Amino acid sequence: MHSVGHVAADPALDRHSSDPAAKGICRSCDRCSRRAFLGTVTRAALGLGLCPFLSNMACNTGTRKNAASRSQATGLVLDDRYLRHTLGKGHVESPERLIAITRRLNASGLDKHTVSITPSVDPTPYLQTVHSESHINRVTEQANDISICRLAVAAGLAAVDAVCEGKVRNAFCAIRPPGHHATNTGEYGFCFFNNIAIAARYAQKKHKLDKILIVDWDYHHGNGTEWAFYEDPTVLFFSTHALYAFPGTGRADRTGSGPGKGFNINAPLPRGAGDKEFLDAFTKKLVPAAETFRPDLILISAGFDSRKEDLLGDFTVTDKGFAELTKLVMSLAEAHSGSRVVSLLEGGYNTEGLATGVESHLKALLTG
Ligand SMILES: [Zn+2]
Repeated sequence: MHSVGHVAADPALDRHSSDPAAKGICRSCDRCSRRAFLGTVTRAALGLGLCPFLSNMACNTGTRKNAASRSQATGLVLDDRYLRHTLGKGHVESPERLIAITRRLNASGLDKHTVSITPSVDPTPYLQTVHSESHINRVTEQANDISICRLAVAAGLAAVDAVCEGKVRNAFCAIRPPGHHATNTGEYGFCFFNNIAIAARYAQKKHKLDKILIVDWDYHHGNGTEWAFYEDPTVLFFSTHALYAFPGTGRADRTGSGPGKGFNINAPLPRGAGDKEFLDAFTKKLVPAAETFRPDLILISAGFDSRKEDLLGDFTVTDKGFAELTKLVMSLAEAHSGSRVVSLLEGGYNTEGLATGVESHLKALLTG
């Protein structure tokens, strides 16, 4: 169905030559002698007085060298079986969301430039890395088709495999149901299993990655993901959200506890927050934390209910804004994580807005 799309021999150099207006600078890394483009993230870091040699830091772990031998393609999970999950007639978390995404990606041809990932990993052994047996039993009774909830988990695991095995550079999973609200209390906020939390644990157990960064830009706070890793220093959780909206969690003073103290970053934003507020939060709070943390893999809880004109939110992020956020995360991954990024769909309830937001995000993953 899909084929490997255009791949630049060296994305860093390609980006430099094709985008002089970006006003980045090129430097030779004194560890590996490769030239490195220092773009948005580094300029932001310079403004904060941080070390600008992001790529040098990547050389410390050899991630850049490894990245050079890996595929530069983008993986995509896009599967009609996710249409079978439903919360009832008229519910905003509807199959129409995925229909709109599929239609948009078909029309733009973006899907043909990605590598298809089949969500064929059995999630059973990994559900209990996050959830209790009673939770699993409860959601099994609550869901109209639990196999589709399990398939959403499987997508994250398959995408982690594809990225960690070097088959693709990054991947996006257009899945339903979402997951970042799920804890151990049964279905919550349209979420059954915490897809991204299980994917993080899977990356640690199956692929022996030590440190995972989870970036959550959904309108709603990822309370379930915070809960899963609140005392864990191996998973850094960063979330932008509306504090005054469901589920009412996500205060900035909630920074983790015990050994996890300092590894939970909540960045609540005011009503109407848009591209500027998001980019400010990312550059001022996420970038310095990620520079210190140096993740082996970055996961994104990609919620598009923070987009303008969403049915459940009042933020105003544009499609261009989502591309900028994506590129910023990719810059962090290029510096530290061998460019490994796996993005999982969370919210987004204006179906057409969701579709264009996903298109912009995926395009950035492909070309950024
Ligand atoms: Zn949401």
